[in-house]
Amino acid sequence: MIRTRFAPSPTGYLHIGGARTALYCWAFAKRHGGAFVLRVEDTDRERSTDASVQAILDGMQWLDLDYEGPYFQMKRLDRYREIADELLRNGHAYPCYATKEELDAMREQQRQRNEKPRYDGRWRPENAQRLSLKPPAGAQPVIRFRNPDAGDVSWNDLVKGTITIANGELDDLVILRADGIPTYNFGVVVDDIDMEMTHVIRGDDHVNNTPRQINIYHALGKPLPLFGHVPMILGQDGERLSKRHGAVGVMQYFEEGFLPEALVNYLARLGWSHGDNEKFSREKLVEWFDFEHISGSPARFDPDKLRWLNQQYIKEADNDRLAILTQPFLERDGCSTGQGAPLASVVALLKERVSTVEELADAAVYFYRPLEPSAELQRQHYASDVKPALTDLQSRLAEIEWSRAKINEAVKSVLAEHKLKMPKLAMPLRVMVTGEAQTPSIDATLELIGREQVLARMTKQLQAFPM
Ligand code: GLU
Repeated sequence: MIRTRFAPSPTGYLHIGGARTALYCWAFAKRHGGAFVLRVEDTDRERSTDASVQAILDGMQWLDLDYEGPYFQMKRLDRYREIADELLRNGHAYPCYATKEELDAMREQQRQRNEKPRYDGRWRPENAQRLSLKPPAGAQPVIRFRNPDAGDVSWNDLVKGTITIANGELDDLVILRADGIPTYNFGVVVDDIDMEMTHVIRGDDHVNNTPRQINIYHALGKPLPLFGHVPMILGQDGERLSKRHGAVGVMQYFEEGFLPEALVNYLARLGWSHGDNEKFSREKLVEWFDFEHISGSPARFDPDKLRWLNQQYIKEADNDRLAILTQPFLERDGCSTGQGAPLASVVALLKERVSTVEELADAAVYFYRPLEPSAELQRQHYASDVKPALTDLQSRLAEIEWSRAKINEAVKSVLAEHKLKMPKLAMPLRVMVTGEAQTPSIDATLELIGREQVLARMTKQLQAFPM
């Protein structure tokens, strides 16, 4: 049974890179009928916050990535202590009493000798004995893992192929701090074992941690999961994706009016491919996802492509759903959608023209409240010679049955009587009623805005025409 996990640290928002890792792990587990686990790695007490935990949960929910859990590392401290004790008993770990000052001095000396700073193993039992080191009274030690001195650590990475690191490169890492909180490399191994992970997929910023973790698996006599390290996401400028490049928090995309299926599709494609497919459903992702097609080089985040995908998904989205999503944006814009045009009909009319729900709302404002045309638009379109035709049209609109077809008829007959071409009348009419020069077809637009509003807006704007 395949088991994968996403193990974020709640020290910020759920960012795009994390969400992509989660998506890959989720899709792989789904594809194989396995389980996907959410584990919150909240051991950094200084930087972890409840708000970030919430942001992670919100992001997972919005992207609709269902999981087993969430598990929280801070609730498992007894378990880490238990395994650390096991390693102590077996001689794979030892208490270290070195103070921060001693460690700083040690590293400083190493630097002066042009050596790589690393823990020198002074509290390894045989060294402590040789150096006659005695535990200071009352001091709480950290627990260090006794890394093998010789040999190599090697694994066949699902993304990067075989990676080999010499043990000589690794020092004895702290696994349990004096306060009993595990370090990342230890907590992650204990959890991945207990939670029966078969595949550990994460960002390649963790490649250097993996050999340390593998040594801990060996010391515990546990089989290894498969490891896969996915390249980072870069901004357009080739730098690692950061706030500088715009939105990096997943929920920010929600706030900007993106649809989750668009972000899922985009993230899936960002660093993984299935032939030439650019637009595909989450079902297809689950059907197709594999590690063979994860790109070995970092992907670049392309906001334009994401917008393009979002536009495609908005076009296809159900109108009632879009209406529900658009409403809060409209309210923010000071529109009350409770009365007037049914929002689902408005979005149906506008959705071909926008790339986000926020744009959809912006485009819908004039259906709910008048927008004053700019002076420039008035100057361009309010000509004295069309004023009589518009006045005529207004009288007609006051009397007809209010439907798109009848509005269209009224416009046509006024055009004929005044010997005008469509744009000559339609443009000022559009500007008068909507405040804008570009709208969907004028009859459909007027129909939805409603007779009362149309007539009132025309009356007001006719006064702005030149004499
Ligand atoms: N908490 C680690 C992180 O957020 C998890 C890495 C892993 O998946 O092992 O980077």
